[in-house]
Amino acid sequence: MKFTEQKGKFVKHCPCTPEAVCCGYYNLNLHTGCPYSCSYCILQAYLETKEAVFFTNMADVEKELVEVSQSRTHLRIGTGELTDSLALDLQTNYSHKILRVFEQFPGIIFEFKTKSASIKNLLEYPDVLKNIVVSWSLNPQSIIEKEELLTPGLTERLQALAAVQAKGYKVGIHFDPIVYCEGWQVFYEGLVKEIAAVIDPGKIAWWSLGALRFPYALREHIFKYKDSILFAGELIKGYDNKYRYFKPLRMEMFRFVKQEIYSHISREVPLYLCMEDDEAWRELLPGIEPTEEAVNEYLYLSALG
Ligand code: SF4
Repeated sequence: MKFTEQKGKFVKHCPCTPEAVCCGYYNLNLHTGCPYSCSYCILQAYLETKEAVFFTNMADVEKELVEVSQSRTHLRIGTGELTDSLALDLQTNYSHKILRVFEQFPGIIFEFKTKSASIKNLLEYPDVLKNIVVSWSLNPQSIIEKEELLTPGLTERLQALAAVQAKGYKVGIHFDPIVYCEGWQVFYEGLVKEIAAVIDPGKIAWWSLGALRFPYALREHIFKYKDSILFAGELIKGYDNKYRYFKPLRMEMFRFVKQEIYSHISREVPLYLCMEDDEAWRELLPGIEPTEEAVNEYLYLSALG
């Protein structure tokens, strides 16, 4: 683990992908690197080293947040692009540094995005800030075991989610990537039911649905995972040079998962799609105008509501 100064910018608009409906998210690159080993993780292809790096110049973070909040309303931002937001938090306690910064920016929503169960520091922080969302990236346990090596299992993640929710935080869920495999319907139905047993629908800030996708360069990395099922579904190269499932299969998976969430949790769950086009949005989430501005506002208000 290394601590150093960030020479570049901390705040960046999420790059999304051409032709997709962006959700207006921003990334805060406060630390990079991840101790986990997910077969589909693009960090493995993009980052030169697996070593976690934590940046120390928090005053510059604050300066950038002031600048960006002057040019934009409904700002949503998180540290989950180049790292897992909480995986190393018990060693670094960066969550407290982050909370102290966002205490000064109550109009900006900050998201911790994690697969970990490292929530002790969040629970010990004296206050619950209304502008903080704690999100879990979830998959069925059988997929976790094959594709998300070294991560805490589903039960541990859900226990952590329940504790953070009980403390008073809004929570987020990311079904991303949704992975195709034989019997995927049974696995994802089971996953939604397990979440339903612990989640308070009124406490959900947002819930993303995103199907498996990866750049060509990641293939070599995936081949190292002998039990991986990432190639079980037919993959095509998309307009953005990423491999993803055929659209009819993606739509089938999204329709199914959405229905499970509506049936077992609530029809009010604030769903959104990650990296899907206008047409997919219009069919799956017809109540939301598929523009970056409208989607961002819908998610922002949902988190604060
Ligand atoms: S939809 Fe996904 S990839 Fe696109 S801006 Fe939002 S978080 Fe980023």
